[in-house]
Amino acid sequence: MKISDLKPNLTDPAEAALYRSMVGPDGWCINFDKPTRSCKIHAERPRFCRVEPEMFKALYGIEEKDMDKEARGFCQDQIRSVYGGRSKELKTFQRVVRNLKKSS
Ligand code: SF4
Repeated sequence: MKISDLKPNLTDPAEAALYRSMVGPDGWCINFDKPTRSCKIHAERPRFCRVEPEMFKALYGIEEKDMDKEARGFCQDQIRSVYGGRSKELKTFQRVVRNLKKSS
């Protein structure tokens, strides 16, 4: 997902400034390495990048019980926007999620 699409509720001015500074001209995070699809600063990424219950609650108002569902939705939206709604990437993601649900 483009970082510009997230719109976290950042009340700390320094954190909000950091967020804005990370949005590249194309809307993607400047720390996202597109060829490897990875974060170049993963170990030191800001707290608002962390997929953790307290972050989802603080930044998006999402309760812990709804976090997995919302996170899956974020991922599906991103895959759909990049690869398309009928892409093998989206079908693979959905298959993996189904298998994880069965095994849990
Ligand atoms: S996890 Fe890394 S690539 Fe993703 S938004 Fe945060 S800093 Fe950018």
